[in-house]
Amino acid sequence: MTASPDVLIAGAGIVGAACAWELAKSGLRAAVIDQAFPAAGATGASMGHIVVMDDSEEQFALTRFSQLLWDELRDELPSNVEFDPCGTIWVAVDDEEMAEVQRKCAYYQARGVRTEILDSTALHKVEPSLKTPMAGGLLVEGDSVVYPPAAAAFFLERATALGASVHLGERVSSFAHGTARLADGTILHASTLINAAGQDAARLTPGIQVRPRKGHLVITDRYPGMIQHQLVELGYLKSAHLVTADSVAFNIQPRATGQLLIGSSRQYNVENNQAEPSIVSQMLQRALKYLPALDSLSAIRVWTGFRPATPDNLPLIGPWSEDPTLSVAAGHEGLGITTSLGTAKLICAQVNGAAVPIPQEPYLPSRQMIAEDHG
Ligand SMILES: Cc1cc2nc3c(=O)[nH]c(=O)nc-3n(C[C@H](O)[C@H](O)[C@H](O)COP(=O)(O)OP(=O)(O)OC[C@H]3O[C@@H](n4cnc5c(N)ncnc54)[C@H](O)[C@@H]3O)c2cc1C
Repeated sequence: MTASPDVLIAGAGIVGAACAWELAKSGLRAAVIDQAFPAAGATGASMGHIVVMDDSEEQFALTRFSQLLWDELRDELPSNVEFDPCGTIWVAVDDEEMAEVQRKCAYYQARGVRTEILDSTALHKVEPSLKTPMAGGLLVEGDSVVYPPAAAAFFLERATALGASVHLGERVSSFAHGTARLADGTILHASTLINAAGQDAARLTPGIQVRPRKGHLVITDRYPGMIQHQLVELGYLKSAHLVTADSVAFNIQPRATGQLLIGSSRQYNVENNQAEPSIVSQMLQRALKYLPALDSLSAIRVWTGFRPATPDNLPLIGPWSEDPTLSVAAGHEGLGITTSLGTAKLICAQVNGAAVPIPQEPYLPSRQMIAEDHG
């Protein structure tokens, strides 16, 4: 363990890794502790879609800020991070969804995001494998794809080159008031603690609300060139907002290997990490409605992961009011790969008492206490 770190970070997922790098760049000595290994949690189970989202102004602000940070970093990223500026196409099946395409386009363009409305002909020209006829779609050119475990490893490598230390296979059992107690009895001190424990964050900081939301993914064998963009159904937005029922939505990604990564499902109140055949079947049925050619491809693996979800779908980024030494960087639900870089910038500015790069209020953990006070 670094002689006396300035900052202890619990969790070596992409959020903890990005925070470690940013804090190390600012001259602080960070020590990252993980009970397993880097990207052992949601980071290693995710799709790696870097995507600007517009569910709320606050979500837009953080995803857009973060997406631009990924863009700035692209020339520095090693090839194994597989940064692919493939863009997203939000696919509309009918006129009702085309109206949503128009709305989304106007929203993005008013905020400086390059988008293009594709009519049915244009859509089928750029993505000939889509089932005909689709009504059209919205191309968001600046979105991209990365391979999250390699990105997290790269951030940690950069952090350690600047003096950070990484401690794996060590479970933090308590984390408060400048002290981390490890499961083996070791006690560590630092003036700042950052809880980046993903779906387990509430175990370390009782009082915050983060709960796991299970997701399934399927990956195929290699079929290079079958699709060119990350393709997402517009109905995805509806399913991502459902909090009561299990939901599936068509979301497919071209990987650098030529494989197709097929998503995705969302389930609350499921703790076991086993792949559920009924959910996988629903996902694939949904995907076949958009890409009938999937029928003839081989899927080689199915896995699950748990998104760290908050009640209002925004992450917790900032100081925890009950403990002046503690900050939280958790609860990024299905957008933590995208928003890891923006989160790290906010945390670093807060820890150093510097100006924050975007308004921080929407993400402050204290909002959960206020919400609780108001029932
Ligand atoms: C199926 C699926 C698809 C997704 N797709 C995307 C996508 O396309 N784009 C996107 O932006 N996001 C996506 N996400 C969301 C994204 O993966 C998460 O938001 C992000 O990985 C969260 O990162 P994290 O570092 O906070 O948490 P994690 O990656 O879960 O890391 C937390 C770490 O903390 C460690 N830990 C926990 N408790 C302790 C403890 N007590 N002591 C020590 N260590 C501890 C764990 O071992 C783990 O390594 C997806 C998620 C899933 C499940």
